[in-house]
Amino acid sequence: MKVLNCECGQRITADSDEALIESVGQHVQTSHPELVGKLSDVDILNMAEELE
Ligand SMILES: [Zn+2]
Repeated sequence: MKVLNCECGQRITADSDEALIESVGQHVQTSHPELVGKLSDVDILNMAEELE
């Protein structure tokens, strides 16, 4: 389980790296269009925390 607490307060959870990257990508497109193309997959994973 991965969780990413976005700077806007949104909490995004996913059960795999791939799912997290996809969910965050959708969130960025919806809520942070200025960040589209600026956040790499590695950036997203570095911002995420692992949950049991
Ligand atoms: Zn956000």
